[in-house]
Amino acid sequence: MELLKERIRRDGIVKEGNVLKVDSFLNHQMDIELLNEIGREFKRLFSHCPVTKILTIEASGIGIACIAAQYFGVPVVFAKKTQSVNIDGEVYSTKIQSFTHKKVYDVIVSKKFLGPEDHVLIIDDFLANGCALEGLTELVASAGAVIEGIGIVIEKGFQQGGDLIRGKGLRLESLAIVDGMDAATGEVIFR
Ligand code: 5GP
Repeated sequence: MELLKERIRRDGIVKEGNVLKVDSFLNHQMDIELLNEIGREFKRLFSHCPVTKILTIEASGIGIACIAAQYFGVPVVFAKKTQSVNIDGEVYSTKIQSFTHKKVYDVIVSKKFLGPEDHVLIIDDFLANGCALEGLTELVASAGAVIEGIGIVIEKGFQQGGDLIRGKGLRLESLAIVDGMDAATGEVIFR
């Protein structure tokens, strides 16, 4: 998606440790016009899929998922990060290792909001090592629901997540794939 790549080139900041900061337009301050174009593009890419729910993970996926959901006309469910899982049988749960915070979270979705009748589109801001997506796909599998596809705004193609997810035969669409970045010059190279 050219508009997104231009924005990353202009306003993205390359940090040490392979972190790309896009907090001026995507995941802290949010440019709603850009998010609207992102939502429209996800709809174009998954237009033939019978999506009933969009699933994302708090916090940064929520805004993107909500705007995309308006094009699909379906609810958004976001997986919640918790300190402790109450094993009372009312939630699906899994563990996710956070790339940015170097922490393991318990992540839950209520059984009320995801079930075997659902066809799920998973949406998130970044794909790095694939831990977040592995956790989300596990939650969908626990619910017995179908994964129609995965929409990612920025995939860091030099990390393993993309290969891991595509290797499972899942349809993954990333709007921008970064193949390299240089913290010294600030340069971002797209696929
Ligand atoms: P993964 O689980 O694929 O390793 O990482 C995905 C999650 O980590 C995303 O939900 C995102 O919040 C965060 N993340 C990974 N890489 C980056 C990055 O370069 N920049 C930012 N801002 N977040 C990232």
